[in-house]
Amino acid sequence: MIIIEKLTKVFRTEDVETFALNSVDIHVKRGEFVAIMGPSGCGKSTLLNIIGLLDNSTEGSYFFNGTDITNLKEKSRTKIRKGNIGFIFQSFHLIDKLNVYDNIELPLLYLKMNASDRRKRVTEVLTRMKIGHRTKHFPQQLSGGQQQRVAIARSVVANPGLILADEPTGNLDSKNGFKVMTLLSELNQEGSTILMVTHSERDAGYAHRTINLLDGHVITETSS
Ligand code: ADP
Ligand code: MG
Repeated sequence: MIIIEKLTKVFRTEDVETFALNSVDIHVKRGEFVAIMGPSGCGKSTLLNIIGLLDNSTEGSYFFNGTDITNLKEKSRTKIRKGNIGFIFQSFHLIDKLNVYDNIELPLLYLKMNASDRRKRVTEVLTRMKIGHRTKHFPQQLSGGQQQRVAIARSVVANPGLILADEPTGNLDSKNGFKVMTLLSELNQEGSTILMVTHSERDAGYAHRTINLLDGHVITETSS
């Protein structure tokens, strides 16, 4: 599903060059659950953003489902992203002005799905994430655990195939963190491929293997 070779990302500001990623090789097969670990600033989020087509690499190659991403136009990248990739972030990233239902429906509107199919899919994931009684609430009226379940619902509503999670339990207490990890684990068992950045050994234990990054390099890979 993901073949990344010699991927390098350089951030340039006026007088500083930062090698956020330095010749990284990563292969992920469909159906895998992979954790990415490493100290703050080692390039984890940069890697996830490039895999998620939110950012471009400076050098190297990236094939997603057999498509060469490197020289793809923005329009095609957006289409692949919206059709195939769901995101979950540490700080939830819900839209404050939209209620729970509308937040979750958004990816389906981007895909121009018809109204009755949208209603069916949103209702399914609301039930699945146990937030069906909160559809009219706004994000700020929810607990962190509930907000993250809404964010997970939004990330999976379009059946994306690949889920990218950047420290999904980072802002949650251990009970809600456990719920989120259980959901991710179930989604993986149902066929979703998952890449998850985490600082938690316990969360990484849910993954099949862990890629350890340091200063923009892959230093080790361990299977759990
Ligand atoms: P992590 O997620 O592992 O904490 P990041 O991928 O966010 O690390 O950052 C990797 C390195 O790249 C850091 O040194 C960070 O300061 C730098 N960096 C990240 N984003 C930018 C940016 N937009 N502009 C300049 N430097 C950046
Ligand atoms: Mg980060």
